[in-house]
Order: sequence, then C-alpha cells, then structure tokens
Amino acid sequence: MTETKVASYLDLLEPIASGIIADNAIDVDQNGTYPRAAIEALGKAGLLGLISSTEVGGMGEGHRAAALVVERIARECATTGMVICMHYAATAVIEAHGSREVREAIAAGKHLSTLAFSEAGSRSHFWAPVSTATQYNGGAHLDAMKSWATGAGQVDSYVWSSKPMTAEGASTIWLVPAKADGLSVVAPFNGLGMRGNYSSPVKAEGVYIENAAMLGADGGGFDIMMGVVLPYFQLMNAAVSLGIMEAATTKTAAHAGATKYQHLGSSLADMPTVRAYIARMRIKTDMVRGLLLDTFTALESGRVDGMLRVLEIKAAAGETATEVTDLAMRVCGGAAFRKEVGVERHFRDARAATVMAPTTDALYDFIGKAVCGLPLFG
Ligand SMILES: Cc1cc2nc3c(=O)[nH]c(=O)nc-3n(C[C@H](O)[C@H](O)[C@H](O)COP(=O)(O)OP(=O)(O)OC[C@H]3O[C@@H](n4cnc5c(N)ncnc54)[C@H](O)[C@@H]3O)c2cc1C
Repeated sequence: MTETKVASYLDLLEPIASGIIADNAIDVDQNGTYPRAAIEALGKAGLLGLISSTEVGGMGEGHRAAALVVERIARECATTGMVICMHYAATAVIEAHGSREVREAIAAGKHLSTLAFSEAGSRSHFWAPVSTATQYNGGAHLDAMKSWATGAGQVDSYVWSSKPMTAEGASTIWLVPAKADGLSVVAPFNGLGMRGNYSSPVKAEGVYIENAAMLGADGGGFDIMMGVVLPYFQLMNAAVSLGIMEAATTKTAAHAGATKYQHLGSSLADMPTVRAYIARMRIKTDMVRGLLLDTFTALESGRVDGMLRVLEIKAAAGETATEVTDLAMRVCGGAAFRKEVGVERHFRDARAATVMAPTTDALYDFIGKAVCGLPLFG
C-alpha cells in the first residue's frame, strides 16, 4: 500500500466529511435522522466500495483503509461512522462469499448492507445464534428475533446469522434482502447515543430464502465471524472510538483557550489543572492511535500477536473513549452539560463501544484466556 493510495481515498472523503457529514451531524443526533445524504455522497465517490475488489469495480482496499475512513467520518459524526463500519463489515463477508451481482452493486455505491448477528435469545453472544433456518422447497425458511441491526429498514440487505440448516456447527451466514417477505423492523431506534444509526430489532417470520443466499458453507458461520468479520469490526469500531476522542479533545482544547474569566483576565487554559486534564486526553487519544497503527502492522505483516492485537484494540479504544469524553465533560463544565460546546454528543456516542459485541468485558475474558494460554471458547 503506497502513500498515494492512502491519499486518494482520504482525499475523496475529505470534502464529504467536512461538508455534508459535519453539516448534518447535529440533525442526526438531535432528531435521530438516518444519514442518508452522507451515504449517497459516499456511494457517488466510490467509498461504499472501498474494500470491494477492483475486479468488481471497487477500490480494492483492506483493513487499514476501512478503519482510517471510518475514523475520519466519526470525527464529524459517530452515527455515520457506525453505519459505514457495519456496511464494510458486511461487505467483507459478501466479497468473500457473495454473488458477483451484489458485489458489483456495492462497488458502484448502489447497495448498502449491515450485520444482523445479535439476537434476543443469545444477546451479545453473537457467535451462538438461536434463530433457525429450516429446509423448505429447495431453500430455507428463516425465523429470528434479531435484537439490533444498524440501519434496520434503511439498508438493502442484512448479513444474517442462524443456526445451521442441517450441518454441524454453531451458525450459518445468509444474505437476506431487506425487502424479503416476512421481515419486519419491530420498533424505532431511540438510543442514548449513535442516535441516527437505526439499530432496531428485526423479526423474521418464515422468511423464504434460496440456498444461493447462503454465504459460505452451512455450519461455516463461526469461521466467517471470527476470520472475516472480527478483524474488520474490531478495527473499525476502535476507529469510531478514536474519531470520537479526536473530536472531543480538539473541541475541549479550543473551548479552554477561548473561554475567559473576565474578573481574572485569564482563560480556562490558564489553569494548570485544566491543562493537565487536556494533556491526559491528548495522551490517551495518541496511545489508542499508536495501538491501532500497530494492529494494522501486526495484521499486514502476519505477526504472531496479530489476533491478540485485534482483540485488544476495540476494548482499549472503547474504554479510553469513555475516559476521554468524561474528561471533556469535566473540563468544559456547565457549557458541556448543555449542548453548546458539542462534547456531550461525543460523551454519549462513546458509550456504545463498551456494550457492542464483542463487549469490552467479553473481550477482557477472551484476552485473559489468550494471555493465559487457554482456549477462547469452551
Ligand atoms: C449503537 C449500536 C449498534 C449496534 N449495531 C449492531 C448491528 O449492526 N448488528 C448486530 O448484530 N448487533 C448490533 N448491536 C448489538 C451489540 O453488538 C450487542 O449485541 C448488544 O449491544 C448487546 O446488548 P445486550 O443488552 O444484549 O447485552 P448482554 O449480553 O445482555 O450483556 C449485558 C452485560 O453482560 C456482559 N457480558 C456478557 N457476556 C459476557 C462475558 N462472556 N464475559 C463478561 N461479561 C459479559 C456484557 O459485557 C454487558 O456488560 C449494536 C449495539 C449498539 C449499542
């Protein structure tokens, strides 16, 4: 990967990020608006096909590019960053196992996808779906209560997990068209943060799907989740957290410099305590960036600790983002408690990473097992 290539996708993104995504961020947050205009702009710029193969018209990029793009978007609007994170995570599976037709549509910016893994039955344990795929008329009937799917009712397809149809194994993955009969969005999304991400429950009642919609082998879902989805998702989710931290740190420093105590003739930044908090925010943000860059390198060079880094990065970034945005709220004071500084949006958005599966606490368990030489599952 050359410097020129890095420049080309980030250059394409920059006017969209600093334009439509930044302009719409408040509306997305305050009114829970789905970032449709941003998605259309990203599609027209070819960025929905960032990780699609050049063979189908995509940009042929990988983990590093996906995370850098998502981070730049999340600096302006974490909701839009999350929508694109889910689209790229789903695209990675479709690229590996999907039809050429859908792959071309994604590369052309005409198809948006997402993951529908989490279920009411197995909650954050996405690797163990309890929903079913029952053989029917040369295909399958899907029945499920999916608990969260970003972009529910807004996307073109769901990369969907179920129990295997007939094979052994924990799961099978399908590509389910959003317009399939029997599929319904159960309730509108009304969350603390990521307010426009439409992560609603989706119900499937006897949804008929052809066998050709199976992504990979029956029973092969676990390997796809861990081998294809996990690295992309972990890196991009961390990138959302990093974008949030960058935005909160920048806004906090600007507020501290510009806010005056007239009676003292000084600013907030003139107080050593305030400067020390801002220094901690900067250090924590830079530490996460360093770990993210090292995770790219570990994966790209096939380092033995690559998977450990992948597990670490989302936990590290997610938890650090909650600390950094907490400091932003403290430093910016009452002005932060209201919406005028803009950091309370980042504070709320940062809370999602901790509970998004694999949750931080599940990751601590996995990382602890890996470090102690124990099997991750079982
Ligand atoms: C903004 C947002 C967008 C989302 N988008 C999607 C999406 O597009 N697709 C999708 O499939 N899902 C999505 N999710 C769902 C997400 O991935 C989780 O499945 C969901 O947040 C888990 O919530 P829960 O209440 O079911 O968790 P629970 O499983 O009930 O967890 C409750 C608590 O128990 C802890 N816990 C659970 N297991 C363990 C363990 N093994 N060790 C230690 N602690 C544990 C958790 O860390 C958590 O603190 C999204 C979630 C959010 C917040």
